[in-house]
Amino acid sequence: MKEASRRVKQLLEAISLTQDEEIDCSTCLDLVPIYVDRELAGADAARELPALRQHLAVCRECLEEYEALRDLARLEAAGGLPGRDELLRQLRRERPEA
Ligand SMILES: [Zn+2]
Repeated sequence: MKEASRRVKQLLEAISLTQDEEIDCSTCLDLVPIYVDRELAGADAARELPALRQHLAVCRECLEEYEALRDLARLEAAGGLPGRDELLRQLRRERPEA
């Protein structure tokens, strides 16, 4: 995790320098796990990583990656990955219209 946080710091610094610019998909995908972590930690991830939030708003591919990671992280945070049936139940509950 130490290596990861150094990488995070570098990315955050890079992004804060270019906050008005759009980030590309590869930067976005680097940041998505961090964004999800921050969200789960109760932080205001959208405010901390506005460039990422903005990219997710315009890039469907990255948004799907984000949603998949977020769902997975939530399940893990809720006490380990459930069985397939429970997984489907939870996904259905989160997206009632799907
Ligand atoms: Zn993208």
